[in-house]
Amino acid sequence: MSECVFCMIARGEIPAKVVYEDDQVLAFDDIAPQAPVHTLIIPKEHFDRMGPDVPAEVISALFTAVPKVAEAKGVAESGYRVIVNNGPDAMQTVGHLHVHVIGGKRMSHGMVHFE
Ligand code: AMP
Ligand code: ZN
Repeated sequence: MSECVFCMIARGEIPAKVVYEDDQVLAFDDIAPQAPVHTLIIPKEHFDRMGPDVPAEVISALFTAVPKVAEAKGVAESGYRVIVNNGPDAMQTVGHLHVHVIGGKRMSHGMVHFE
């Protein structure tokens, strides 16, 4: 998966504004933020998307990082949306599993993207 952009970020080959990191996951700000706070959390190991091949420990590490990212970005109290765009119908554009943490503004109830 050497051409995977998020693998390249995980390896430090592409710059990213890192928000949080541990053994299993890396969190960095989205390059095209949809809200004042828009951070992505990725497993350092490559998985195309959410599926049965993703170990429970990886899922756990991703979601354990969510409140840490929210705290670091100052939205723990105001709230935030946690989104995984998984596969074509969800408009997943980067084929490396990632969790969006989006906040810093009041969102609607709509299902379309982040609005
Ligand atoms: P998705 O549509 O869920 O696959 O989201 C992919 C996200 O990755 C989009 O919000 C992009 O703006 C973001 N993205 C793509 N390339 C980069 C990059 N090099 N650094 C940070 N975010 C990126
Ligand atoms: Zn990858």
